[in-house]
Amino acid sequence: MKKTVWMTLACLFILNQSVSAALSKHIVDYRIKARLVPEEKAVAASETLTWLNDSKVSISELQFHLYLNAFKNNRSTFMKESGHLSRDFKKDKENWGYNEIRKIGIKDGVDLTAAIEYIQPDDGNKDDQTVMRISLPEPVPPQEKITLEIEFYAKLPKVIARSGFFNDFFMVAQWYPKTGVLQDGKWNCHQYHRSSEFFADFGVYEVEITVPREYVVGATGKRIKEVDNSNGTKTYIHYQEDIHDFAWTACPDFVEFHELYTLENPPVKTEIILLVHRSHLKLKDRYLSSLKNAIEFYSQNYGAYPYPTVTLVDPPLKGLAAGGMEYPTLFTTFGASFLPKGLLLSEMVTIHEFGHNYWYGMVASNEFEEAWLDEGLNSYSEIKAMARYYGEDQSMIKMGPLKISDLDLSRLQVMATAQLDPIVKNSWEFYSGGSYATNTYQKAALTLLTLENYLGQNVMAKIMRTYFERWKFKHPTTEDFIAVAEDVSGHDLDWFFDQFLWSPDKLDYAIGALRSEEVKEQEGIFNGQFKTSEEKKEKDKEKVFKNEVNIVRKGELIFPQEILIIFENGEKIREKWDGRTRWKRFVYYRPYKLESACVDPEHKVVVDVNYMNNSRHLKPNKISPLKWTLELMLDFQKILTLISL
Ligand SMILES: [Zn+2]
Repeated sequence: MKKTVWMTLACLFILNQSVSAALSKHIVDYRIKARLVPEEKAVAASETLTWLNDSKVSISELQFHLYLNAFKNNRSTFMKESGHLSRDFKKDKENWGYNEIRKIGIKDGVDLTAAIEYIQPDDGNKDDQTVMRISLPEPVPPQEKITLEIEFYAKLPKVIARSGFFNDFFMVAQWYPKTGVLQDGKWNCHQYHRSSEFFADFGVYEVEITVPREYVVGATGKRIKEVDNSNGTKTYIHYQEDIHDFAWTACPDFVEFHELYTLENPPVKTEIILLVHRSHLKLKDRYLSSLKNAIEFYSQNYGAYPYPTVTLVDPPLKGLAAGGMEYPTLFTTFGASFLPKGLLLSEMVTIHEFGHNYWYGMVASNEFEEAWLDEGLNSYSEIKAMARYYGEDQSMIKMGPLKISDLDLSRLQVMATAQLDPIVKNSWEFYSGGSYATNTYQKAALTLLTLENYLGQNVMAKIMRTYFERWKFKHPTTEDFIAVAEDVSGHDLDWFFDQFLWSPDKLDYAIGALRSEEVKEQEGIFNGQFKTSEEKKEKDKEKVFKNEVNIVRKGELIFPQEILIIFENGEKIREKWDGRTRWKRFVYYRPYKLESACVDPEHKVVVDVNYMNNSRHLKPNKISPLKWTLELMLDFQKILTLISL
């Protein structure tokens, strides 16, 4: 009896341990059996999905994303918004992709296949089948679960927007019926758009992947089993909790590398898996070292990387449309083996995509509605990580005398893009893909760096860490980020965020006219006496100059400014200005002239779109080499914008 009690207690303890060990609330539980059919460029699969109604109301319908239907024809919302598919894509039936639900029903119960409906909550486009609705015969009460069994066929498109195949390379992403997110009793389940990413609930994934034996497979989560089947195929089973998506890849030309990565403080132990395409093997060491840098940077700055694996996938050159994309514990990088070594694109993409394990993976905001919370926070982190590991001024390019930082490139991107949208906006409602990218990535990152320079590095570090700690494994919004920033800094920051996040305006402060004019001796009638400067000339009195510095606010955004004024004799004055009015004038009487003036001399306000007008000399300088360097950088920046991350 005693033994039984003891064992029961032990079991309860173990059960309690496993419950408290869950990092997230498990809303979904996916058990998927998938078989790659290379000759059909498709995956045939069955899915058992258990979904928890975590709301306070009964739910009588389920909504699912069927993302691959974006590539089904040229009338889907994705395709209509894209409008630039190559002819090559259109001419072959094999190039299109789709999700076909062959059967869906309640486990051991009603068949619901006939209840499938396609809805278009964003634009009413009846040709779009990227959101599926199923009405349930009985509602799911609050805190109850429902288990469905689904058979589906995922025809992969020729690689486009992160997913698909090229020859025998397969990037199987956004490939299975995935529930939307129930919020306040309503489904948040957007259609797949050209400029939008994803949003899903946390849970458990166990995915069984069967491929022809010669294929090398990489997948989200930890490999828990590997079986060599008698029919020339292999089956790999991957399992991971506390994630909200699952992607995998297969290609016979991957070369696989494994390395155990450990960090003492904070404690991290994770298995690095590199799947490097045979044609890019020379990039292997660069991938490995930048990935280690990334794990260290994010773990030290935000919190220890908690997952047992991280998998880097290096797509072949012609599969690069799948490159630079994040999934939980797995990401695709950019195999820029054709670019010069001094261009650190592979490092930057590796760091950026790993970083999404934090901003997207664990802190899982709604990427459809507030993409900046993933891309902006992650670009901010990436710029800092690149500066730390590759040098402040050369973190993107170091080729002989040419040095350009990741920060410089972000500034150039913002400079080169018309200010038509704010940072916070539904992803698909931006003026263009370029406007979406510039605002949610670069302008958001520059905004956060400007805030960091304003509040101080320590305060900003604490804000980011607290935000991660408070919101990991949840779905925070912009308001939640602002609340943490105000909480930690102790400042009311509405004046800052209201302007920078919700207005499309730009920030640009400039030095206006500089003047140094000699103050004339008294001339004319003063107190009834006629005076002329001629009389005093002999006295050879010391000259006095009226020195005038004008600062102009050329943009709508208002931000406090520091101004450095330097006089001919070396005297320096620092002024502060709240930046509110359209212009501000400082006047100094000195026996010497001005030399120069500079607004924001340390370039703390990195979101200022034009540094060229930030300083001015009284005597115009000779031609500045800065001008042609900038021209060169702008050309280079155009090349980079072709790559989206
Ligand atoms: Zn990103």
